Amino acid sequence: MKTALLYADNLTSKDEIAKAAEILKNGGLVALPTETVYGLAADALNEKAVKNIFVAKGRPSDNPLIVHIAEFSDLDGIVSEITPEAKKCMQAFWPGPFTAVLPKTEKIPSVTSGGLDTVAVRMPKNDIAREIIKKSGLPLAAPSANRSGSPSPSTAQHVIDDLMGKIDAIVVSKNCDVGVESTVVSFAVNPPRLLRPGGVTAEQLKQYIPDLVIDAAVLSQPEKGAKVASPGMKYKHYAPKADVTLAVGDKKAFAEYCNTQNADLVICYDEDVGLINSPTVSLGFSADHKKQAERLFDTLRDVDKKGYKTVIVHAPTTDEMGLAVYNRLIRAAGFKVVQL
Ligand code: AMP
Ligand code: MG
Repeated sequence: MKTALLYADNLTSKDEIAKAAEILKNGGLVALPTETVYGLAADALNEKAVKNIFVAKGRPSDNPLIVHIAEFSDLDGIVSEITPEAKKCMQAFWPGPFTAVLPKTEKIPSVTSGGLDTVAVRMPKNDIAREIIKKSGLPLAAPSANRSGSPSPSTAQHVIDDLMGKIDAIVVSKNCDVGVESTVVSFAVNPPRLLRPGGVTAEQLKQYIPDLVIDAAVLSQPEKGAKVASPGMKYKHYAPKADVTLAVGDKKAFAEYCNTQNADLVICYDEDVGLINSPTVSLGFSADHKKQAERLFDTLRDVDKKGYKTVIVHAPTTDEMGLAVYNRLIRAAGFKVVQL
C-alpha cells in the first residue's frame, strides 16, 4: 500500500487536514499527531476500518481502543452514562491527556471496545488532531501508531519507521510534548480506578476523585490468567529487542550494581552519569519526570537502532509523572525488575 505523507505543522495546512479527514470518512487509516504520542486513527463506528487498525499494528484483538472526540457534545451516543466524578475530571483535564472509561452505547462496535461493555474516550489537546476529528465528523478510534509491543511513537519518524506501507496516510507534524500515553481512569467501577498512569498525574486526579484506587497492574505484572481491568496492561510492551533490566534503588546502590554488570548501555539520570563505568544515556534530572516522559520512547527506540544487547535502566521514583515513566519501564523490561 502507498502511504501518503501529509505535512501539517499547524492549522494553516488546510489541504492536508482535509485530505486526512476524507481518508477517514472513506474507512481508511491515518496516523496523526496528538500531545501524548502519535495515534493511528480510523472511524470508531466502522467495524471494518477498526479491524484494519489491529492488522496494521499487529495488536491483540482483546486490547480495546480509545475513542477520540473534539467536543463535549460528541459524547452523545457514545457513552450511556457519565458519573459526576467523570464529568468533573473531563471539565478539568479536557482537552488533554486524560481518558475516561464509561459504559458504552450499542453504537460502539465490539471490535472497538475489545469485546467489553465499556468504552474509553478522550479529547486530545493537539489542535491538528481535533481539527481532523471535526472535519471528518467522526469519533476516531486511535491507539498508538506503532507496531504492537514496540515503544510508542513520540515523533513522526517513529511512525514512518513502523507503519510506512501499511496505512493510508501519516500526518507529519511536530514531536509530541507529553511523550507517553494518556492517563486512563475507569468510572465504570466504584470507586473509580486508575488503569494506566500518563500525562495527568494521580495527584491531580485525587483533587476530583479523593478515593481513587490505583490498579495493581500499574506497578506490577498481573498474575498469569488473571482478569485485568485494562487488557493493555498485561502485555510486555514498549520494549526494545535488547535484554532490559529495571533496577530500583538510590544512586549509590544503582552505580554499584551497574559497575558489576558490564551492560552495553545504562539508561539513567544526570546525577548518575559520573558514577557509572558503562556507556550511559540520561533521561534528564532524576526529579524532572516530565522530561523523562518526553525522552523515554525515543531513548528506547535508539537502543535497537544502535544494536545494544543488554541494557540496565534506573527506575524513577513513582510520584507525579514518575508513575507513568515507571509503568512503561517495567513493561519495556518485560517485568524484569531488581530491587537494590
Ligand atoms: P493505546 O490505545 O495503545 O494507548 O492503549 C489503550 C489503553 O486503554 C490500553 O491499555 C487499553 O487496555 C485501555 N482501554 C481502552 N479501552 C478500555 C476499556 N473499555 N476498559 C479498560 N481499559 C481500556
Ligand atoms: Mg499503545
